[in-house]
Amino acid sequence: MLFRIYGSRGSYPISGQDYSLFGGHTTCFYMRSRGGAHLTVDAGTGIRQLGHHLMREGFERGNGEMALFFTHTHWDHIMGLPFFNPLFIEGNVFNLFTASLPYSGIQAIFSGLFKPDIFPVPFDDLKSVIKLQEIIPPVTVDYKDFSVRAMQINHNNISLGYRVENEGKSVTVLTDNAIIELARMGDGFPDEYIRDENGKKTKELSQKTLDFISEYRTRQAEFARGTDILVCDTHFTVDTIVGRETWGHSTPDEAIRLAHECQPGMIILHHHDPERHDSHVLEKEEKVRKALDGTGIKVFAGYEGFEMEL
Ligand SMILES: [Zn+2]
Repeated sequence: MLFRIYGSRGSYPISGQDYSLFGGHTTCFYMRSRGGAHLTVDAGTGIRQLGHHLMREGFERGNGEMALFFTHTHWDHIMGLPFFNPLFIEGNVFNLFTASLPYSGIQAIFSGLFKPDIFPVPFDDLKSVIKLQEIIPPVTVDYKDFSVRAMQINHNNISLGYRVENEGKSVTVLTDNAIIELARMGDGFPDEYIRDENGKKTKELSQKTLDFISEYRTRQAEFARGTDILVCDTHFTVDTIVGRETWGHSTPDEAIRLAHECQPGMIILHHHDPERHDSHVLEKEEKVRKALDGTGIKVFAGYEGFEMEL
């Protein structure tokens, strides 16, 4: 399969010469199967450029069909959708997959992006066919010759990790994903707090929570084990995460640990902090590469235009 990155930035898009090496667009990954099926993970601002490429592959004539899997629906993962040209062409079909969204509902989130107050074309007037589908993890979804496994990862509300497989090759995307030892953030995950004898909240971990942490790590390692490409959240450093443990993101050190646990063929550092320049991204790439030296695991910091045939 073909794997291509259209956006590696987290939180919000950014531009300027300090960001030109890795790019400023937010998260978007594209895969094309050997059979020619199109699959994308996340619709950050990077998806605009993907739209231009797809227009040259049948979508301009309304012959296109694509699956779009959302890790979650925070702004940086959906904000490119109204600027994705193939949506406006009659005949194209888009299958959108996301976790169920208990606070707003899927329909409200996606149609909300096209509300008349903020966008000139209403959702219902889009010419393509858009099918919204909920995923309840853990589950495997088959789409054409792709097989996509989903698990809930550690982020605010519900965020999904995906393992996308095609003809024995796989790409696993684990973003946005907080360090489980520092915070447990997903809906349904156990509370990190217990109360002391005075009824006051303490950060001491209960046995139940420790068991959950251990079980989560095992599940995550099993999910990504031996994958060809593992995309990892590396938004923070060990310094910048202090005080932000509950913002839902990881560090390069966590990526190193994950790489040891999962033994992927390649690890791609993702969700670059828009407050950090190219030089910082290069530093983290060097750090992780050094740490994994001798393991056979290749290391790259994700950048727009990264492409690989698996
Ligand atoms: Zn994000």
